[in-house]
Amino acid sequence: MTPATSGSRAPASDRERALIGVLALQGDFAEHIASLRACGVEGIEAVEVRTLEQLAAVDGLIIPGGESTTIARLLIAFGLMEPLRDRIRAGLPAWGTCAGAIMLANEVTNLDRPPIAAMDITVERNAFGRQIDSFEADLDIAGMEGPPLRAVFIRAPVITRAGAGVEVLSRIEDGRIVAARQGRLLATSFHPELTADHRMHALFARMVLGAMASSAVGTT
Ligand code: GLN
Repeated sequence: MTPATSGSRAPASDRERALIGVLALQGDFAEHIASLRACGVEGIEAVEVRTLEQLAAVDGLIIPGGESTTIARLLIAFGLMEPLRDRIRAGLPAWGTCAGAIMLANEVTNLDRPPIAAMDITVERNAFGRQIDSFEADLDIAGMEGPPLRAVFIRAPVITRAGAGVEVLSRIEDGRIVAARQGRLLATSFHPELTADHRMHALFARMVLGAMASSAVGTT
């Protein structure tokens, strides 16, 4: 690999592994760490992120499911909201699952604080209401090989609008969008960390490695 010629962080090619952080303020971050470790992609390391220093060190970040109002409140209380927004807007690969997808969206219906607002999507919280607040479905994910992905939805949001630069990766049967990608950003309504199928984690790990490789040759 060609070493980077500028930048304050050690260039990707000088480090042995990609550090993939999981925001660990609230929610099911431990399951994401375990899924990353089991996803079979070489050259990655999974770490919890709670501090500014940890955030500064990672090459990619997962924002887990949980409660988006709580995650937003804790991000503000820990002084992480602005730095996180800055890093993601500057190109840090990020993947939000469920509450994490809510946090990444530019527009959210029913969130009492501003989200990180990095992805050109609108998200409706708790879109399935109380009667079917949790369910599972088999999803086709664009670009994913193999059988459909078994997806767990828990008080899940849906993506009600995807901007021009956003690729829709998956829809449920009624046509509503439940996975989307915009460049280095990924949003899923469901919880891939709760099943033994780690293909979504492998997809994100490859996104992070790809972003590091393109930064190293100065093509970003
Ligand atoms: N309903 C939650 C919210 O609005 C998300 C649920 C989840 O992450 N499983 O934040």
